Amino acid sequence: MAKIGVISDIHSNLHALESVLERLETCDSIICVGDIVGYGAFPNECVDLVRAYTSRCIMGNHDAACVGILSLAWFNPYASAAARWTMEELNKANLGFLRGLPSEGKESHAYMVHGTPREPITEYLTTPIQARSAVSARGERLILVGHTHVPLIFMERQGVDAFSPADGDAYSYAKRRIIYNPGAVGQPRDGDPRAAYAVVDTEELRVTQYRVGYDVQAAREAILDAGLPRILADRLAVGR
Ligand code: ZN
Repeated sequence: MAKIGVISDIHSNLHALESVLERLETCDSIICVGDIVGYGAFPNECVDLVRAYTSRCIMGNHDAACVGILSLAWFNPYASAAARWTMEELNKANLGFLRGLPSEGKESHAYMVHGTPREPITEYLTTPIQARSAVSARGERLILVGHTHVPLIFMERQGVDAFSPADGDAYSYAKRRIIYNPGAVGQPRDGDPRAAYAVVDTEELRVTQYRVGYDVQAAREAILDAGLPRILADRLAVGR
């Protein structure tokens, strides 16, 4: 396997997922770092696509909440309303698939976890101190995380440095270990409404960040038509 597409935080946004999958057609495989569902209007359609197109997927906090594994007490009122709606919508096969997702995984020479190695499903990895502890907890050169919805890379140098990867930026992990968050496919929060994803080249030992536009208006309208909280529709337009 030379090229692996990395997607995370799809959040039932079918329009964004379809745009990203189209871009990943030339990859040898695709992996998903969790949160297939929650927030958006197409939970079954997104789980179906993930089941069809990814070779590995791990559990995110919204996946866990929508199948009753994680308490909704963790969520704000909008997330919690969307999780309850999603629970009702999901068909039996997709509920079973989500329930069976592992909380961490390995693919090629990468370790993948939605949150952190310490708290795989719930902890947000945002600081160099957490990054250092994650790197020392694991032996892999490349750690893939999700959960924050913001593309971010931590690179082990003298200390641990953090960078925000933009569309087209590439980072090598040949000589240093890195932690990579590709950002969110379905609900970006870095002020750029385009869907975010990454591609790992396992021969060149390099991760490249990408962004792709999608039909945000259609995704917003579907959220409103489903009766989900308006804020979940509106935030897609601004990427926050
Ligand atoms: Zn998420």
